[in-house]
Formats: sequence, structure tokens, C-alpha cells
Amino acid sequence: MAKNSGRRCWLEYRQGMREQFHRRTHISQKLSVALSDNEFSLVYQPIINVTTGSVIVVETLVRWNSPELGVVSAEELIDAAEHCGMIRDISSWIYKQACQDFIAIRNRFGEQVLLSVNISGLQILQGSVVESLVDALADTGLKPDDLVLELTENVMLPDSTEYAGTINQLVAMGFGIAIDDFGSGFSCLAYLNSIPADWVKLDREFVRQLNKGTETIRCINQLINALGMQVIVEGIENQTQSHQLKACGVLNQQGFWHSKPIGLQGLLKGSGELRKINDM
Ligand code: C2E
Ligand code: MG
Ligand code: MG
Ligand code: MG
Repeated sequence: MAKNSGRRCWLEYRQGMREQFHRRTHISQKLSVALSDNEFSLVYQPIINVTTGSVIVVETLVRWNSPELGVVSAEELIDAAEHCGMIRDISSWIYKQACQDFIAIRNRFGEQVLLSVNISGLQILQGSVVESLVDALADTGLKPDDLVLELTENVMLPDSTEYAGTINQLVAMGFGIAIDDFGSGFSCLAYLNSIPADWVKLDREFVRQLNKGTETIRCINQLINALGMQVIVEGIENQTQSHQLKACGVLNQQGFWHSKPIGLQGLLKGSGELRKINDM
């Protein structure tokens, strides 16, 4: 019986792997045409300081509504692009477009606003990210310190020596660095003081755990601030969560409650989706 069910699990697992492989292959085959036919688009999700109500950073997120495949998630798109060698070209397009859009975003929200972009670990490994970013800046006259690069924690660990050279180069050039999704993987607090980041984005799992108490987040926030880094909490979906976090001293907040990711025109119009925090 146990043997049979074990076998069924294994078969389902293999079946799942096969489907995932086919899906990835299918997506990969469309990427090149999608890029040249301009099928990708960008949305922006603000990060807000809840004491001042001002937008401090705007995060860039890629979107793809394929005529053949329908909506492909950002995660699937990036995963396929990494596997088929398209990550460099697609990322270059994303950075260029985001930097162009950012001129209008800054005019709308003020000089203090920064632009953040997500960086795939593979691009750090390949080193191609430096050239892609430099090109995007050159096209628009922006400076490295206008940008925040969001890197996941596995890329940032001090013993990830294969990433370190490129990360140090980016830091030396003046780019801001954020650790994305901190707390979602094998986050080790002991490493925090040797990571060259300016921002730590706490994963939305911390928000989910708020109903069990606020001490963890209060202490982590203090610890990260004491190490000279700023905290952002992502995935805030309602007013209660936002208030709880504010009471814990977490002032930089991002999530559907404040604003869903939104196209450039919607963001510029601030069409009601960008929640004013002052009146909360
Ligand atoms: P991420 O950088 O951690 O982005 C946050 C994700 O959470 C986004 O999903 C966003 O739409 C979603 N989100 C934001 N607020 C909330 C909330 O309050 N509740 C919930 N449930 N979700 C929220 P998205 O856009 O599907 O992106 C998923 C991941 O794909 C990103 O995670 C990032 O790792 C990657 N990604 C997205 N765009 C890019 C890109 O341009 N380049 C690279 N390399 N990766 C990207
Ligand atoms: Mg991110
Ligand atoms: Mg994140
Ligand atoms: Mg993520």
C-alpha cells in the first residue's frame, strides 16, 4: 500500500516535472519574437514612507500578455529567459524602458524618488548586468545612485563568492542595493552586517505572521536599522497590517493596500489607486 502510494507520488512528481519542462520550452520559444514585437510591458509599484505619505521608491515589474500563451507570470518569464539565454536582452529592454519612464515618474513624485529594478542572479553571475545598466543610464542621463538594484538573499550571502565581484563593482559604481524577499529562504541574521546593502525588503511572510505577534518584526526592524540599513516591508494587504507595522517602527511600506503594481499612465495620474497614508 505504502509502496503503491509512494510510486504514485513519484509518477505525479515526474509528470509535474515534465509539464513544467514543456511549459518552459514553450515559453522560451516565444521570447525572442515577443521582445522584437514589443509584447512585454512594465508596471510600477510604489514604496511609501507612511509618516510623510511620500513615494520613496518605485519598483519595476515586468508583464507579458502573450497573444498565444495568454498571461505569463513574471516568475515564469524570468525563469524561461534564464534557461534559454534571453535574460540579458530582456533585462536590457526592461532597464532601458524603466529608466525612460522614470523621468516622468520623478517629475510627478519629486526628486527624492528612486527607481528599483529586480536583477536575476544569473545576470550577476554572467556579469552582463553592469553593461545593461550602464547602457540604460547613458540613454537617459540618470546616475547609478538614482537606482536601487533588488537582489535576492542567495545572491547576497558573503560566501557566494561567484557573485561577489560583480556586486562589489555595482556598489563601487554607486548603485543602491536592496536584499529582496529577506526571510523567505535561509536568511541568516549573522550575515546581515557583512552584506553591502542599503535596503532590506522583508518578505511578505512577516506580514502574514503579524497576527501571531509583532515582537519579531519590531526587533528585526531595530536590528537592521542599527546596522545602518533601511527596512521595507512588502506584501501589506490591509489597513490593520499597515498600522501594526507603523506601530513597530516600520515606516517604508509596499503592498496591494498602498498600491497595486500599475502601468505608467495610471501611476502618473495617481488615479485613486495610490493610497494617501496621511489620513490613516
Ligand atoms: P518581487 O520582486 O519580490 O516582487 C513582489 C511580487 O509580489 C510581485 O509579483 C508583486 O506584484 C507582488 N505583490 C506586491 N504587493 C503584494 C501584496 O500586497 N500581496 C501579494 N500577494 N503580492 C504582492 P510579480 O510582479 O508577479 O513578480 C514576481 C517576481 O518575479 C518578483 O518578486 C521578482 O522576483 C520577479 N520579477 C518581476 N519582474 C522582474 C523583472 O523585471 N526582472 C527580474 N529579474 N525579475 C522580475
Ligand atoms: Mg523585488
Ligand atoms: Mg520581493
Ligand atoms: Mg519575489
